[in-house]
Amino acid sequence: MPTHHDLAFDNGFARLPDIFYSRVQATPVPDPRLVCHSPGALALLGLDADAIGHPELVEALAGNRVLPGMEPLAALYAGHQFGHYVPQLGDGRALLLGEVNGWEIQLKGAGRTPYSRGGDGRAVLRSSIREFLCSEAMHALGIPTTRALALVASPLPVYREDEETAALVTRLSPSFVRFGSFEVFYYRNQPEPIRQLADYVIRRYYPALADLADPYPVFLHEVTKRTAELMADWQAVGFAHGVMNTDNMSILGLTLDYGPFGFLDAFDPGFICNHSDTHGRYAFDQQPDVGAWNLTRLAQALTPLMSVEAASDAIRDYPQLFSRAYVERMRAKFGLPAGSETLSLILDALALLAANRVDYTIFFRRLCDFDSAVGAANPALRDLFLDRTAFDVWALRYAGALRDAGVADAERRTAMRAVNPKYILRNHLAETAIRRAADEGDYGEIARLHALLTRPFDDQPEFEAYAAEPPDWARKIEVSCSS
Ligand code: AMP
Ligand code: MG
Repeated sequence: MPTHHDLAFDNGFARLPDIFYSRVQATPVPDPRLVCHSPGALALLGLDADAIGHPELVEALAGNRVLPGMEPLAALYAGHQFGHYVPQLGDGRALLLGEVNGWEIQLKGAGRTPYSRGGDGRAVLRSSIREFLCSEAMHALGIPTTRALALVASPLPVYREDEETAALVTRLSPSFVRFGSFEVFYYRNQPEPIRQLADYVIRRYYPALADLADPYPVFLHEVTKRTAELMADWQAVGFAHGVMNTDNMSILGLTLDYGPFGFLDAFDPGFICNHSDTHGRYAFDQQPDVGAWNLTRLAQALTPLMSVEAASDAIRDYPQLFSRAYVERMRAKFGLPAGSETLSLILDALALLAANRVDYTIFFRRLCDFDSAVGAANPALRDLFLDRTAFDVWALRYAGALRDAGVADAERRTAMRAVNPKYILRNHLAETAIRRAADEGDYGEIARLHALLTRPFDDQPEFEAYAAEPPDWARKIEVSCSS
């Protein structure tokens, strides 16, 4: 029965020169308590489900104990925040504990580090619950993401707008290297660490490129591809990240650093989930372009390794890569075959959704049950639209396209249900779990949501209410960078 005693650490990042990080210990917290954990993430480390209950492991995940083999460190990085270069960021509240089975284990909220600047090094319970739940929900949706192993809470007071309490999320990722991990050395005019880090990342995470005579442009193109795919995933599922600064962009194309993220409820292309993002730089429909802008920053940071022409060539086909990936995902969501009529059906549907402020997730889930027979009215879907006539016109075209495609409704329904989730982490669902935890010390709702969102595509009749549109009070929820 593997327990934390069996964790075999092999810390690749810690073997890099110390220019990339500072070795620092976590600052202990009083009275840590395990709030929830992810059995799936535990398994990645080769741990049994009951290993998590051991008090020594909980202490380790609170930053109160160093297990044999751990080499805690805070990584250095920089980044463009809201368009402006910030020369030194780094893990200001996260600590990389080490690597097991190819998974880096990181504590977020473990106390101050040399990169904390004015911050307290802590994360509050509220944002930690959101990160824990969303990481595992995104994974279940099939979207590349860092994982969350556990959430530990402490009564330690933490001051934001109000007094809150501290928590730590244990995150897992093959690597936490960001675009900003390269930028910091570019702006310091230090080409050698850029090469060392690129070589490390290529050898470990893009091994197919390691033996190329000139791997760097291919590497940049691979990151471009993964970023385009990730943006397509976000746009298709209706996820807004909220803080797409280059320090939050994973070199592996993973969703990284969950802050004021939000899923679309009513379809609103200009949806801004981050209350602090007053100009909508990171609005939902801006994300693909921001991905391109961020890749340009990465390309620039890698110019010590290649010519400027090679760097721009490597990212040039991002728009095509994104469009192709996005259209592919949307086609699957609509159950439509390739073709030009398909594209206009998709775009027209999105325009209708926006004009009628139809709930994005509910629309697609009901669309799975679309009856393509001549004369079918599809009332459940139709009722979502204020402008029924416009819907009818679109539905007629859609039904025709489906019949032309020659796929039986039943077959299409099964395929569509596997790509159109029934359950997403809507803000109000997270908020309810947060309130119960913060106000009543009741963690049951977190576990319930976690379990529910692990199977987002399955009908779970006992949780019908969790698939509904948000209640009126949800409009008042404000999520900002303060976390
Ligand atoms: P984020 O907006 O969460 O991606 O964080 C941007 C930068 O600020 C990163 O370098 C974080 O480590 C740092 N940071 C955020 N919150 C804190 C905090 N409470 N204490 C110290 N550093 C922080
Ligand atoms: Mg960050």
